[in-house]
This record gives sequence, C-alpha cells and structure tokens, in this order.
Amino acid sequence: MLDEKGILFVLSGPSGVGKGTVRKDLFKQSNDLAYSISMTTREKRLGEAEGIDYFYKTNDEFEQLIADGELLEYARFVNNYYGTPRRYVEDTLRSGKDVFLEIEVQGAVQVKENFPEGVFIFLFPPSLEELKNRIVERGTESQDAVLNRLKEAENEIDMMDVYDYVVVNDDVNTAVSKIQSIIQSEHCKRERI
Ligand code: 5GP
Repeated sequence: MLDEKGILFVLSGPSGVGKGTVRKDLFKQSNDLAYSISMTTREKRLGEAEGIDYFYKTNDEFEQLIADGELLEYARFVNNYYGTPRRYVEDTLRSGKDVFLEIEVQGAVQVKENFPEGVFIFLFPPSLEELKNRIVERGTESQDAVLNRLKEAENEIDMMDVYDYVVVNDDVNTAVSKIQSIIQSEHCKRERI
C-alpha cells in the first residue's frame, strides 16, 4: 500500500547543536520534504529573511494567532514566542507531502499530543562543552542570552525520552544521512501496514 498522507517529522535539540545547518543541508538534498516556517517574536538576526527563516511577528500579533487557534503548537523560549502555523502543516500533510518541523522541546511535546504518529528526532551535541563553545562562537547572542540558552539546553536534554530517535551531531554529513535513513525507514514501515 502506498502512503496517502505525508509523515510529520520533528527535529529538536539544544540551541547551538547545529539543527539549522543540518536542516538546511537535508533540504538541499531532498525535494520531497516541506519545511514549515515558524512564527517568532524574536528579532531578525543578520542574514535572516522574512518568510525564509521565520515569519517575524510582534507580541500582539503572536498572541492574536494563539487566540485564533492558528498555531499547532507554540512555546516561549528565552523570552520570545515561537510557533508552528497549523494550516500549512495540516494542508501539506493532507496533500501527501512530508512536513519537517525544527522546534524546541516544549513545542515537540504539544505536537506529539496532536500527532502521536509523528516521528520525533533529537539532535544531540557531541558534548555539553562543545555545545557551549558553539553557542559562544556563533556570537549572535549577548552573554546573558548565551547563559539562558545553555540552561535551556540542559532542560532539553532532560526531555530526550519524548523522542523516537537520537542523532549525535559530531559531523554534519553523517547526521544528515542518518536523518535521511530515518525518513526512508519510516516510509517503509508505513508501506507494510
Ligand atoms: P532560534 O532563536 O535559535 O532561531 O530558535 C530558538 C529555538 O526555538 C530553537 O530550539 C528552535 O528550534 C526553536 N523553534 C523554532 N521555531 C519554533 C516553533 O515554531 N516552535 C517551537 N516550539 N520552537 C521553535
């Protein structure tokens, strides 16, 4: 039997683990996946663009989206809101295409409640020390934000049990090919049912 509905893949992992890089490389190689662009109230970083990295919203606009039920999940992460547009995800899955979310752990827990059949992947740093170096080297955050992100990283690692797969990101190409294998196996799993 062929898949009729797309599969929802959720990638999480602590800030600085390299989720963005892994996701971008994965998308360079796969046309069959749709990336759900999130909404956020965080300020645009240098090099980011509206509608490519995020849809940037004010606090009021974001709270209106929550009130209107437009978000599949949302969370506050280091003093900002982040959320996934519900309609895009539901319509794309219904059209038969896989959807890929890159979100933090509190959001992933909410998605799991609505989509228990989703596939949850946790990208793990080679070590906490390495993670700290990566956040500091990225240089996009103030010292306070770096410390907050590290604290969040530890909380996120404590929630790893929510996930179906753990991929250690010590090398981007290897991490990407492991995620591709997960995607393939999940399709094979469903084709047998
Ligand atoms: P950043 O500010 O570094 O772009 O993202 C901070 C964190 O928010 C990352 O862990 C990222 O995966 C997560 N994030 C991005 N979009 C969403 C979203 O739509 N929902 C949730 N819950 N987290 C998100």
